[in-house]
Amino acid sequence: MTEWFTETLHDGVAQALTMDDVVFRERTEHQDLVIFDNRLFGRVLALDGVVQLTTGDEFVYHEMLAHVPILARGRAPRVAIIGGGDGGTLRRVLEHPGVTEAVLVELDRSVVDLSRRWLAEVCGAAFDDPRARLVIADGARWMAEAAPGGFDVLIVDSTDPIGPGAVLFTAEFYAACRRALAPGGVLVVQGGVPAVQPGELAMITGNLRQAGFTDVGAYLAVVPTYYGGVMTLGWASDNPALRRVSAEVLADRAAAAGIAGRYWTPEVQAASFALPPWIAEQIAA
Ligand code: SAM
Repeated sequence: MTEWFTETLHDGVAQALTMDDVVFRERTEHQDLVIFDNRLFGRVLALDGVVQLTTGDEFVYHEMLAHVPILARGRAPRVAIIGGGDGGTLRRVLEHPGVTEAVLVELDRSVVDLSRRWLAEVCGAAFDDPRARLVIADGARWMAEAAPGGFDVLIVDSTDPIGPGAVLFTAEFYAACRRALAPGGVLVVQGGVPAVQPGELAMITGNLRQAGFTDVGAYLAVVPTYYGGVMTLGWASDNPALRRVSAEVLADRAAAAGIAGRYWTPEVQAASFALPPWIAEQIAA
């Protein structure tokens, strides 16, 4: 009999995937982890009953989290990723030859170890890159002690705002991120799926403003297994020009860096900041 993985993250709806082969299951020190194969989306990683990635659509999320802020900034030698223990974002960050240091701060060592073993195609050789540094720690605690102005781009590749990921959505954490950014640096955050996570984008953007960022917004991507339609990625900086970089300039920067995406293109990046009114109105003024 087919076993189903049923995600009940959202009130009133559920997403179900067949577990055609259960590859690994463990209660780690921090969360319930399962890795399974699904006939449509490939290999799936789920934490605490919530899909984190599938090999079938991870490229959308990871390309948009990594390439958009780095190419908007133009020059981003120092990058930190909070969460993202699967290494998918790290891999895309390290595709940029201008990145000299990429720190990945993950709470749960098991996610890193098991992803490297069972989801190797997602991280590739990223963890072995001499520019990568892995820190096993709570991202909020680590950020509170980060050197001021030490990063050009910060990427919050977190679980949802429940459980261990909740601290990564607070104004206090965002204020620590702002301190850790160089002038004109960019913070991007996993911002949820607005149709099924009402209030989340308003909470995130409100907290980013409370943290002192003067340019706060969001951009969009469609990740099929983040159920509910278009997802938002939160954006914060003190330089409003960075989310208006033209497709032509982005194309030149991407060509110079040798970046080519399966979802990301210069035109997709430029267009991803165009928000339909029902989403734009959720961004706290
Ligand atoms: N793309 C995914 C999503 O939107 O569902 C997130 C993927 S990534 C696997 C999320 C990671 O954040 C997990 O490995 C989890 O252990 C990590 N995480 C959760 N809370 C954290 C915290 N406070 N500090 C650092 N990492 C954390």
